[in-house]
Order: sequence, then C-alpha cells, then structure tokens
Amino acid sequence: MAVEWTITIEGKNEFGDVCRKAVHIDKSWDRLFDGDIGLSIEDGKTIMTALQRAVVAHETETYSLFRRVCPDCHSFRSVKDYTSRRIRTVIGTVDVRNPRWMLCQDCHPGMVGAFAPLKEICPDRATSEMMELTARLGSMMPYRQAAKVLAEFLPIEPTETYATVCKRTIRIGERLDDQTVRETWKARAQADDRRQLEMHLPGDRRKEFVISIDTAHVRSAEPNAARNFELVVALCDRGGRGEPGGRYFVTGSTAQQAIRDRALHALEGVGYRGFGDVTVISDGAEVLKRAPRDMPKPTTDIIDWFHIAMKIQPMQQIADRIARSQPSPIEPLPTIHRDVRAVKWRL
Ligand SMILES: [Zn+2]
Repeated sequence: MAVEWTITIEGKNEFGDVCRKAVHIDKSWDRLFDGDIGLSIEDGKTIMTALQRAVVAHETETYSLFRRVCPDCHSFRSVKDYTSRRIRTVIGTVDVRNPRWMLCQDCHPGMVGAFAPLKEICPDRATSEMMELTARLGSMMPYRQAAKVLAEFLPIEPTETYATVCKRTIRIGERLDDQTVRETWKARAQADDRRQLEMHLPGDRRKEFVISIDTAHVRSAEPNAARNFELVVALCDRGGRGEPGGRYFVTGSTAQQAIRDRALHALEGVGYRGFGDVTVISDGAEVLKRAPRDMPKPTTDIIDWFHIAMKIQPMQQIADRIARSQPSPIEPLPTIHRDVRAVKWRL
C-alpha cells in the first residue's frame, strides 16, 4: 500500500495572475516497519527544491520582463539571445532562462549593446544568503568538511565542491575587509573632533585598551609547494582584570595600514572612541614593531610575558643542570639557577 502526497504551491501577483506548481511524494506503508515514519531529510530536499524552482523561475522571468521595457519610450527592447543561468540558493540550485536585451535603438541611436537583467539581481550566481552561509561554515571548519555539511542537510548538489566554499569564503572576507576600511575612513574624519570632548585621565584602568597581537606562519599543506604566508592575530580588550569579552581579528596582510585599520575597528567594538591609553602587547616581531607607532597616541608597547618566559626557559634549564652537576658537595653551591629565575621575575 502507498500514499501519494501532493503539495501545491500557488503564487498570485497584484494583477491576479496565478502561478501553480505541484510536488509529489510517494510514501509506502512497508517502510513503517523499518521505523521510518514521516518525511525524511531527502523528502524535505525534494520538496524545498521544487518549491524554490517555482519561486525563482517566476521571479527571474518577471524581473527580466520588467527590464525589457525601455524606460524612455516604454516599448519592448529587442532580444540579443537567450542562455541559461544557474542560481544557487540554500534550498536548491535553479537553472533559469537568462535573456539579454538590446539597448533601445530609438532612444540610443548608434549605441549597440546588450545587457543581462539577471546579472543585476544576482551577480554572484548565488543568493547572498547562500554566500554568507558558505562563508560562515567555511570560516569555522575545513572547506571540504563545510561542503559536506552543506550537502548533508541542504538540497545542494555535490558539484558544490570545497573549491566553491573556499572561493565564497574569501570573497565574503574581502567584502568585510572593504567595509572595515570604509568605516575606518569615516571614523578617522570624526576622531579629531571627538578627542577634544573628553578630558584624558592617565592611569585610569577602565580607560585603557589593550591589543595583544602575535604573528603565525602558515605553511602550505603540500610539502613541495612554496606557498607559505603570515597571519596577524590579535585580541582587542579593555584594561583591568576580569573584564569579559574582547574582540579578535585576523588578517593575512602584514601591511601596517591593514593592521592599524583592523585593530581600530576591533577596539571600537570594545568601546574605543579615539581617546584613552592604548597598550600593545607583542613578542616584538619585526612586522609588529611599527604597529604601536601607527596607533593613536598615547600608545605603550610592551613585550608579553609569555615570550619573555620563552627566552628565559633554555637559560633556566642550563642553569639548573649546572647546579645539579656539582662534583663535590663540599664546594659552595653556585647560585646561578636562582639568579636566572630572579632575572625572569625582574623583567
Ligand atoms: Zn526606448
């Protein structure tokens, strides 16, 4: 025995035109004995893809038609050609008809050209939701795994390879970078006015901002490839102890401007408004040496405790060994191991 389910989707526009699509799902009774009740992820994918296909096709056709009308003389522009365009959405990939309209010859005499209206509404061949979702997953896990997770729950074809996830993650990252730069430019223009508004009180911990910054070399996964690069990683936080939160940033650029822009943007996220002490804590690496100088004044630069301790550690080990390897207990014990420890605490 089996039941055929029919899901009907009906769209009506303001002129009363109705567009109707039906989706069929067959459900046999036998599967109930296997503990298989209700709709599965696969059924969900089938339904969502069919619905999405109907909605996307209708919307793209309507938009193309709307753009076919010349806004100056209200006549139809002539057709250059029809191709198809693939639009990727989180609930399915839809192939739609992609017309190209010629420019109106009456209104633009002598100008020969054509345009694709769908390029205007979907330049990435994927919806912004799809772009953001892939980028978000791509930033949390390896690209291959992100592609697998997406295909597991969403009606996305296996052709959505990890290369696509990688490409989208990078593209969204670049857009975020551009946005940061634009916001920083805007903020910089207003920073000088603001600085005069509040009196600066030195030594006020709540007004101190701390940037803990470090670099990391990322080596290529392929041993023979020479593509290594350097990342700058930082935590921007308020001074004082036990303050929760803080903003992290990572940049693949070691350019001073990029580090400065990212740091200022992250500092603004924790309440920095152009005044207050800024402390930069780093390991003193070459690329970070100039960072404190580029930051707004007053900025203090200190080497972090971890890196100081790392430098002392080998000396400490040598000193301990010397102290232990005394040939005779009669000779006075050298104090070198205690001296080295004292140096560490002094620093
Ligand atoms: Zn015209």
